[in-house]
Amino acid sequence: MSGNDEKALVVLSGGQDSTTCLYWAIDRFGRDNVATVTFDYGQRHRVELESAANVAAHAGVSNECLPIDTFSALGGDALTDEDIDVDVAVSSGLPNTFVPGRNIIFLAFAAAYAYQRDIRHLVTGVAQTDYSGYPDCREETIRALEETLRLGMESEVHIHTPLMHLSKKQTVEMARDLGGLDAMALTHTCYNGERPPCGRCPACELRARGFAEAGIEDPLLTAR
Ligand SMILES: [Zn+2]
Repeated sequence: MSGNDEKALVVLSGGQDSTTCLYWAIDRFGRDNVATVTFDYGQRHRVELESAANVAAHAGVSNECLPIDTFSALGGDALTDEDIDVDVAVSSGLPNTFVPGRNIIFLAFAAAYAYQRDIRHLVTGVAQTDYSGYPDCREETIRALEETLRLGMESEVHIHTPLMHLSKKQTVEMARDLGGLDAMALTHTCYNGERPPCGRCPACELRARGFAEAGIEDPLLTAR
């Protein structure tokens, strides 16, 4: 097996899940073989980009921020349009924090970035359990996308989704077991962009529940 086969690129958002994936990748591929990319997609909360850079620095891996700011021009979602409030009470359909196509675009760009650097493994923190039901986070979508990327780039890219079938509780436990808890103090999850986190939005509530069920104090809440 050549060295190049063992390199991994983590799509790092600066949040809890992708940070856990970074520690998973370091554990599996070795720190020297792991790089991260962060996408500046025009998100309202610029603190996410800062968090990603801080997490990568803390973990001792590189982080490159790539600009793809077309989503805000498309409009209609609460994460890129500051005129839209995060809808906490969605009774049907997808919540307005769903950015259509986001993960598909992220992974296509990540695959292109990886291709140019002979990196075969992509790692993303998507999960289909416990989450907001985003269809681009499902296993079926990721496997179809992986096949598309392989065909479209004539590559053997592999998309790893270590959190796909884990609950939030299990994700917290994984971060702990991989030595990633300290980095959690640097992450950003809150949909309202608040630091310390608001504690009221769906993202904050989900995160809090995961830590509570795991019986672990969230380092973010005691960080300054
Ligand atoms: Zn919040």
